[in-house]
Amino acid sequence: MRQSEIPFKTRKEPPKDEAAINAQLLSRAGFVDKVMAGVYTFLPLGLRVMKKIEKIIREEMAAAGGEELLMPILQPKALWEQTGRWKDFDSLFKFTSTNSGIEVALGPTHEEVITPLIGKANLSYKDLPIYLFQIQNKFRDESRAKSGLLRGREFLMKDLYSFHADESDLESYYKKMGQAYRTIFNRAGIGDLTYYTLASGGTFSKYSHEFQTLCPAGEDTIHICKACHTAVNDELIGEQSSCPECGAKSLEKEKAIEVGNIFKLGTKYSSAFKLTYKDKNGPDKAVVMGCYGIGLSRLMGTIVEVYHDENGMIWPESVAPAQVHLMTVGSPDAELKKSAEHVYNTLVRSGIEVLYDDREDVSAGEKFADADLIGLPWRVVLSEKLLSKKQIEIKRRSEKKAEIIDEKDLVRAVSAVA
Ligand code: ATP
Ligand code: MG
Repeated sequence: MRQSEIPFKTRKEPPKDEAAINAQLLSRAGFVDKVMAGVYTFLPLGLRVMKKIEKIIREEMAAAGGEELLMPILQPKALWEQTGRWKDFDSLFKFTSTNSGIEVALGPTHEEVITPLIGKANLSYKDLPIYLFQIQNKFRDESRAKSGLLRGREFLMKDLYSFHADESDLESYYKKMGQAYRTIFNRAGIGDLTYYTLASGGTFSKYSHEFQTLCPAGEDTIHICKACHTAVNDELIGEQSSCPECGAKSLEKEKAIEVGNIFKLGTKYSSAFKLTYKDKNGPDKAVVMGCYGIGLSRLMGTIVEVYHDENGMIWPESVAPAQVHLMTVGSPDAELKKSAEHVYNTLVRSGIEVLYDDREDVSAGEKFADADLIGLPWRVVLSEKLLSKKQIEIKRRSEKKAEIIDEKDLVRAVSAVA
């Protein structure tokens, strides 16, 4: 990827109407563009991050037996009336078509589509369990859309739904999904900061579990147990002062962002849609369900909130839009440019993703400032002086000091894991 070909320039100042750090940095660096409060375009660099996050999530959902499908955003009123949520879902976007008069909702979640879908399969006990997921834009008419990607009106979510013959089967899959979520947040680079958190559960189950990432910008308050790395949501804490998991005495109060949520739905939706299965013997039984969400765009915003400094973002390698930011410094010189092209091609051929700052009318200072703002894991700098010795300067975004290495060692150096 050549920087000269990206039309979205970096900016020194954040847009005036963005208060959240994630939105300020992502806008300044040309990763996202705000269309209205809570609604963003993902520009090429931002989309690359999103695709990396998607890939991690897809792999872990597949490893947990999930099959992917894609359900519609546009959903008829009748389905939402059947569960009572046409009235009760606070942030439901709903409207009447001026053309045909039909009344529709924009999907904020997909139980109202997936439950009747499974009903069409005429299930027998042999068909269960079933695990289906999608990665799809969701719509919620959030009144407080001020936190950039953390709370969108249109946002990307992974939602998986599981269907079981009984509660004990749901219970064991619920645990497996909890593990899958842990792996996802580890791979996304926020594992250490992310707590498995006891939260309220709705009608079927007393509790649900959230994955909460410690961050001062978070809207949630949780009480963490350092001994077993779990937490309790403030909404449940009451008189509780010891850890419900391990009994440790003291919990610490922290701000956090809910990046994921797993939930036992029980028979709430199967009852509403009369979703049953034929049992081995005896009468038909209600299917038992679970649902499991991760906000991908919220996760991207969270990573920026927890990994940045005064100069810009600091992407973990696993989700960075590219691994290397390549640039030349000094007066534009044909020989130097040729060498840079050569280094670019060598890296790309070795399977390393490179953002090549090939702009000619930009000072070294500006290039360095952009590299810090964009936050790729490695900055690689070529200069006339170094090239005469077949050397090259490399620097990790997370470290202050640069290092001079032989050009021939570059691929190996930037392939090293942090
Ligand atoms: P919150 O409590 O933050 O409003 P929620 O509990 O309503 O979220 P779920 O319905 O459980 O959220 O959705 C699953 C996941 O989708 C959440 O864990 C979160 O990561 C993400 N998410 C929910 N609402 C938004 C939003 N408005 N913008 C971005 N991501 C969101
Ligand atoms: Mg939630």
